[in-house]
Amino acid sequence: MSLSPARVFAALNAVRPPERSWPVLGKAVVVGGSVAGLLAARVLSDHAESVVILDRDDLHAPGGRPGVPQGTQLHALLPGGFLQLEQLFPGFREQALAQGAVEAPPAARRSYLDGRRKVVVPDDADSLAGSRPLLEGLIRQQVLRLPNVKTVTARATGLVVDGAVTTGVRFDVDGMSGVESGDLVVDAMGRSSRLSDWLEQAGWERPVTRRMTVHLNYATALFRRREADPDLTVVMALHTPRVASDVAGAAFFAIEDGRWMAMMAGYGDNRPGRTAEDFVRRLREQFPPEFGEVAGSELLGDVQTYRHADSRRREFAALQRFPAGLISVGDAVASFNPVYGQGMTAAALHAACLSTYLRSGPDLRVPARQFLALQKVVVDAAWSMSTSADLALPHVDGPYPRGYRLSSWVSRQIVTATVTDVPTARRFNDVVSMRAHPRSLATPGVVLGALRANLRAR
Ligand SMILES: Cc1cc2nc3c(=O)[nH]c(=O)nc-3n(C[C@H](O)[C@H](O)[C@H](O)COP(=O)(O)OP(=O)(O)OC[C@H]3O[C@@H](n4cnc5c(N)ncnc54)[C@H](O)[C@@H]3O)c2cc1C
Repeated sequence: MSLSPARVFAALNAVRPPERSWPVLGKAVVVGGSVAGLLAARVLSDHAESVVILDRDDLHAPGGRPGVPQGTQLHALLPGGFLQLEQLFPGFREQALAQGAVEAPPAARRSYLDGRRKVVVPDDADSLAGSRPLLEGLIRQQVLRLPNVKTVTARATGLVVDGAVTTGVRFDVDGMSGVESGDLVVDAMGRSSRLSDWLEQAGWERPVTRRMTVHLNYATALFRRREADPDLTVVMALHTPRVASDVAGAAFFAIEDGRWMAMMAGYGDNRPGRTAEDFVRRLREQFPPEFGEVAGSELLGDVQTYRHADSRRREFAALQRFPAGLISVGDAVASFNPVYGQGMTAAALHAACLSTYLRSGPDLRVPARQFLALQKVVVDAAWSMSTSADLALPHVDGPYPRGYRLSSWVSRQIVTATVTDVPTARRFNDVVSMRAHPRSLATPGVVLGALRANLRAR
């Protein structure tokens, strides 16, 4: 009997590392040592004799790096992702705090929707705030200290496939080429992954890439933080298309080294906050007073901008022909509108799919269909959450799924109710933070509760 997507999703959220090593393969090669690759390597370390992480950047160099250009932008660690990290790395919270990450329990988080302050869900899960390099660095430290994990600094250039089985990865270092052989190759090369090209070059099918154009413009700036322990550590304000504003939203987080990190975003031709003056002015004039207080602090460095063209997913699970010994994780499979902060948490759930697959004692000489099916549940869930919200944007023109008008009306009712109604906000937060499947919102109880809350609030 096959399980419903909601039950698969719940089971993936509950995956814990095995208590002792559970070998099913000799060597695994992970291409890409960012968040998705590192989390896959963590899981593989329980099931492989050795794990090699191959990245074009030197993973032992501190701080940000060119291979992750989005690293300068504000990154939210959703409560669901934080829970996953604590499961994979017991003691993660303490180590993160010791290195400067800032706690973000429900009472320290504040959200606004179209200028209205949302209720706090007191029993919501905790989260942490920190810069992207800090969060990635923490994960990297935990993974690179595992005795059977090592790194290679090289640019991967292609796959080695023997018959129907992937046996390694070609790479290039300073003009010299080589091959890293393995029993399982994991593509974690991010949204620009070349795996589709490599498959085609090796005579395999190329996965269809689905895109939803969003044209999102991000801007992030750092400010000095005067309070060592501020009451609020994560503050967000979203504007829906109902509000006439060229800013889609803004947020600020307390991060390490006594700083605030603030971001604002706009769609299409709207590029709010590109200069320091514009950034500070808009924080003061277009957002609630807390934003003005941050804007009144000393600005540290320049505003960093980033343009994100589309959400995209590669349909590996639909391929008729796919070589054995190969999987893809993280943004290489699906990357979403970053406004929803799903990327790192989705990568953690892909790692949970890998753990479940490897524990089933798979035959690595056949394609990893079980893994692909599990991962599809995660990708479908994250995709439906981000694209259903994006379809409401005026410059996004589909593709609209069947029943879109009704589903978007229901979503609007639920989102509106999250401003005033704790039970609806609790359910919604569980879904948005990827702890529960989106279908858990599509129940008569949730919809009626939202409608009643909206009537009461009128
Ligand atoms: C503006 C912006 C804001 C975001 N905000 C959030 C947020 O708030 N919360 C959140 O959870 N996520 C956010 N994300 C998404 C998040 O950055 C990613 O989901 C996350 O980094 C996981 O990505 P990844 O590891 O799959 O790929 P990436 O982080 O893109 O890393 C890919 C890795 O592959 C390596 N690589 C690529 N090609 C090769 C090659 N040929 N050979 C060797 N190495 C190679 C690169 O050097 C890099 O290390 C945001 C993204 C953007 C763009």
